[in-house]
Amino acid sequence: MLWSGWGDPARARELPEQVRGLLRDFLGVRAPATPAVALESVRLPPVALPEPLLGALAGVVGAAHVLTSHGARVRHTRGKSTPDLLRMRAGDGSDAPDAVVLPGSHDEVAELLRVCSAERIAVVPFGGGTSVVGGLSGVAGGAAPGGPGFAGVIALDLARLDRLLSVDEESLVASFEAGVRAPEAERLLAGRGLTLGHFPQSFEYATLGGFAAARSSGQASAGYGRFDDMVMGLTVATPSGTLDLGRAPRSAAGPDLRQLMLGSEGAFGVITSLRLRVRRAPVERRYEGWRFGTFAEGSAAVRALAQEGPLPTVLRLSDETETMIGLAKPDAIGSGGSGCLLIAGYEGGSVAGRRAEAGAVLSRMGGEPLGAEPGEAWERGRFSAPYLRDSLLAVGATVETLETAGFWSNLPRLYDAVRLALAGSLPSPLVMCHVSHVYETGASLYFTVVTAQEGDPVAQWDRAKAAANAAIVEAGGTITHHHGVGRDHRDACAAELGPAGVSVLQAVKARLDPAGILNPGVLVPPPARDI
Ligand SMILES: Cc1cc2nc3c(=O)[nH]c(=O)nc-3n(C[C@H](O)[C@H](O)[C@H](O)COP(=O)(O)OP(=O)(O)OC[C@H]3O[C@@H](n4cnc5c(N)ncnc54)[C@H](O)[C@@H]3O)c2cc1C
Repeated sequence: MLWSGWGDPARARELPEQVRGLLRDFLGVRAPATPAVALESVRLPPVALPEPLLGALAGVVGAAHVLTSHGARVRHTRGKSTPDLLRMRAGDGSDAPDAVVLPGSHDEVAELLRVCSAERIAVVPFGGGTSVVGGLSGVAGGAAPGGPGFAGVIALDLARLDRLLSVDEESLVASFEAGVRAPEAERLLAGRGLTLGHFPQSFEYATLGGFAAARSSGQASAGYGRFDDMVMGLTVATPSGTLDLGRAPRSAAGPDLRQLMLGSEGAFGVITSLRLRVRRAPVERRYEGWRFGTFAEGSAAVRALAQEGPLPTVLRLSDETETMIGLAKPDAIGSGGSGCLLIAGYEGGSVAGRRAEAGAVLSRMGGEPLGAEPGEAWERGRFSAPYLRDSLLAVGATVETLETAGFWSNLPRLYDAVRLALAGSLPSPLVMCHVSHVYETGASLYFTVVTAQEGDPVAQWDRAKAAANAAIVEAGGTITHHHGVGRDHRDACAAELGPAGVSVLQAVKARLDPAGILNPGVLVPPPARDI
């Protein structure tokens, strides 16, 4: 993974001239951004953890698995939001962990949490490092790393927990360690003719534990569900003991504590393994395009599919601006069309029948079939968009995404509110949106924003993000549908949960993590007396 950007550096892309022209003429992008500093030039704070504590950590996992090198610390600094990347490009490594620690088993994780609680070392669980909400940013909302309260901070990298543990082919449940990356999980399952069906745009790098910890949702959520739908059980190491949750698909044995751990973002415990619902790998796949005159018409059609069925496996409706730019086909960016493009994908059995039935609904709702080409172009480019972000940052444009969800009846209001907030807080931004996670009762809205960098681009984006957050809260949407809370959404999440809700989170945190070492500052607001 490129430390100052996204993905495999070999896949870095030049922007087509047409897109450069668009950036220049419509967004006023003039000055290329300062190039990223060299990795060796990233400024890191000195390692705050003293030798005896590093030795205590090495006593648990072995000296070879406690890393304090410059490179290891840089690669575990923050996540992959645009502000994260802008800071890293500028050489700001101020949130770096003191050490990267790689446990090899659940028992080692549990023992590390015991040592870190006793020695007051903050612990940031680190999966694929793809958080876009400030979920990996060291110690926030209280003591600074190495400052009062903590002896230091470690990134607890789960990369060594990388095994498929078992497959129950009768129940269609596979048990994995939490550090398995998504492509490896799919590879291991493919050998048995199975799939998880979870394909977020961060697929290439993110881990199964990270998906559960942040309640991820993938591109094929219409067919396979969100990641939290797939979690049948999990094992979580906490400073107060181990939770082993999930004996049956559903249960009436009190509140479902699995739900408490899903979305807990490393603040309540470290997920060390998961039991996941898997499906038979699809024998057939077909992706295709449809055009609608307006986003409102397309949304009505998507709602009809969600409420009446049949639901395709992949469903993505771009608004007019996103369609014009061609973002649904990142490999052909800049060559969009008119109206609103809908991508519908069908996987698994009875593809022809489901396709015909869904096609009848889409036609009835005013859709025009565009054939296989747009669907196949979407499929080719389905993991390419994050690479485009690096190219845009390099030419002096900021590009970032944000998302929300709401009930169908409130979506138009939410859509308008977010667009207005972004337009009012950035210089002539290009704001694009799509719907790609749908339910009978509502859907998520996913916005992509491009703007010319002016002044300090991090401060510029922070202002826009604050305006968008406020608009989402005010318009009655949820602050996040699948990116999670982290540090960036913590206050808005608190507003959404209300004081009683926040006190429940605080109570759970205090019970499971009495020393408060787990991902401090993320998800759970500190109790009022600590503010
Ligand atoms: C380019 C890009 C595209 C993305 N596309 C999508 C998308 O399509 N859909 C989507 O849902 N998200 C998407 N994301 C967001 C991100 O990939 C998800 O939030 C993902 O779930 C994070 O997984 P990870 O393994 O990288 O976790 P990390 O980023 O390493 O961690 C995420 C959070 O979970 C905690 N954590 C990680 N592992 C564990 C564990 N084992 N136990 C306890 N806590 C843990 C971390 O401390 C952190 O707070 C995208 C991000 C990027 C950068």
